[in-house]
Amino acid sequence: MIKLTKLNEPGILEENAENWKSLYLAYKTGDKSVSKNIGTKYSHKEVKTALIKETHGKCAYCESKILHTSFGDIEHILPKSEIPEKCFEWSNLTLACPVCNNRKRDYYDNNNLLIDPYEDEPSAHLFFAGPLVSYISERGNLTGLKIDLNRTELVENRTKHLKSLDGFIMQIQNTTLPELRTALFDDLRKTASISEEYSKMVRDFIEVFESKVSTVNG
Ligand SMILES: [Zn+2]
Repeated sequence: MIKLTKLNEPGILEENAENWKSLYLAYKTGDKSVSKNIGTKYSHKEVKTALIKETHGKCAYCESKILHTSFGDIEHILPKSEIPEKCFEWSNLTLACPVCNNRKRDYYDNNNLLIDPYEDEPSAHLFFAGPLVSYISERGNLTGLKIDLNRTELVENRTKHLKSLDGFIMQIQNTTLPELRTALFDDLRKTASISEEYSKMVRDFIEVFESKVSTVNG
């Protein structure tokens, strides 16, 4: 999980969110004149496009690239079943992979909120030791367990991802030229840019690796 920044609210929401909210709340309280489709209006392609852009096409929770494997779900950070008022609220929408979305389901406890990657700084709550997430805070721990951030297939994908960096690691370890080492590190850091899959894990990995290399090389 990495810190995300909201883009501007899509026009379709700016224009309709208030009206949709009123209709949805009426529907939820039994108004039969409102079509049940009202509850899906947030999944407009304009909204989806903006969410794909701001999440870099990754799940907001596990950072898996989701667009090539699945369509990706529009996710309500606070569940619409519990907080229907926020069903169409731009700040409450993000993109999640189907597994994280399903794991998180309708969890809501106002006194024990999960980490919100827009409102919170995820690095203050969790870090990576190799392919595994470790926790710095109880909220981080709660979030990780609820979403199951160390689930088997995710750890396997992260392990493969780290393995793909072996070439860089070997080159850096074997070089005796400080200038070359710096250039290789610059290249390695590109693999941890915000748009890359599992960027938080790769950043944490590079930080540890860099401190080891600098200890060895003085
Ligand atoms: Zn996910």
